[in-house]
Amino acid sequence: MQSLQPGTVEELAGLVEQAYEQSVPMYPLGGQTALHYGLPAKTDGWGISTEKLNRVIDFPVKDLTLTVETGITIQALADMLANEGLMLPLDVPQQSQATLGGVIATNCNGPRRFGYGTVRDYVIGIQAVNGKGQLFHGGGRVVKNVAGYDFCKLLTGSMGTLGIISQATVKLKPVPEEAVTVAVSLDDGATVENCIAMLMESPTVPVAVELLYGARWSEYAGDPNRRYTLAVQLAGTESEITWGQQRLADDLKACGAPGAFALSSEAHVALWQQIQEFPAAEHELTIQVKTVSSGAVPVIEKCTETDPQCTIQSDIGNGVVTVGFEEMPETGISGLVVSQLGPLATVYHGHVETLRCPAPEDLTLGTMWGQLSGPQWLHNRVKEQFDPRGLLNPGRFVYQ
Ligand SMILES: Cc1cc2nc3c(=O)[nH]c(=O)nc-3n(C[C@H](O)[C@H](O)[C@H](O)COP(=O)(O)OP(=O)(O)OC[C@H]3O[C@@H](n4cnc5c(N)ncnc54)[C@H](O)[C@@H]3O)c2cc1C
Repeated sequence: MQSLQPGTVEELAGLVEQAYEQSVPMYPLGGQTALHYGLPAKTDGWGISTEKLNRVIDFPVKDLTLTVETGITIQALADMLANEGLMLPLDVPQQSQATLGGVIATNCNGPRRFGYGTVRDYVIGIQAVNGKGQLFHGGGRVVKNVAGYDFCKLLTGSMGTLGIISQATVKLKPVPEEAVTVAVSLDDGATVENCIAMLMESPTVPVAVELLYGARWSEYAGDPNRRYTLAVQLAGTESEITWGQQRLADDLKACGAPGAFALSSEAHVALWQQIQEFPAAEHELTIQVKTVSSGAVPVIEKCTETDPQCTIQSDIGNGVVTVGFEEMPETGISGLVVSQLGPLATVYHGHVETLRCPAPEDLTLGTMWGQLSGPQWLHNRVKEQFDPRGLLNPGRFVYQ
């Protein structure tokens, strides 16, 4: 596949217009860390890279907003923000390669979505080039700007199928004074559910709540003989943290989970780094189930029944369960995703996606994205408006 690297937004628009006129398929490329997320491309075309589109357009620090071109890497962005005591609290794997455009296109959300929200909450302005080469934008550079159709929300998670995102304005947060992890080992699903119900209402307001299963996490467990580790991240001022730690330990004990302890600061950093990278870690098969939070424990128990050796990282307060299988389950991907986990996820208003598998070329719409929700004709109509010739990432997403 030919890879092109426009140096300006005007060049990008010109290239897309040329591809439109010649009906050439186009594949937007960011840091290329997640090209295996989605169905594989089946037709040849132009790879259009945002590598050279990485300029800072506006950084009014006091307004807590930033406008940048989307080829900027998440690491470069984080370094620039850290100099001002600010952050974009999205936990992206492979930060030195992954770009802001890729994060918005894939709607990448990590564990801190529990306390800080999702990509959709942070993108307040967007500029993109549609499938005909026309530049369009939505939102703006200030936090209150809700006039018109909300292109920011539509393009977040559109997987590069509605436009190539060239520029974004994001909201920022101040870096908290301190952060700490309170961990506790648990044995049964009922206790986990009690703890989660408590944490959802907790006055300690955690920023992340993770349920972990598997040998990979044993060094963070108080009692490695217990089945699960529950890890809760608190952030705030020193006095908030001191109070929160004690309150959490008491509340967990009251839920049937005694023995909570705070990780050392080194272990705290290492744990959240490992959690952040987990979706990108090497496993024979990695799937992700997204349900309401009450669906997470039944899904986790089903997965551990299927393969007791699997590794699980769950943003359990948000009902997101990522599972790495070391061996392909006997039922194959289709049996696992479509017959076993899919129906269970549906009960909890969710679905299953495949993040990594040994033979991506064999993935189907059903095994990649699980049971689709929403009327298909509506997805198709929206796609036609933005990309009438179906040239942007053809065959990779949900359109039929
Ligand atoms: C194995 C793995 C699994 C992951 N699973 C998930 C997941 O389940 N859910 C999730 O939300 N995140 C997931 N991520 C995280 C996320 O997708 C990536 O970390 C990162 O956001 C991708 O950035 P990138 O620049 O490398 O994008 P790329 O890998 O270059 O591109 C990823 C997708 O975004 C499109 N794209 C890239 N840039 C643009 C742009 N400027 N405009 C329009 N489209 C663009 C591409 O066409 C492609 O479809 C996963 C990451 C990995 C490595």
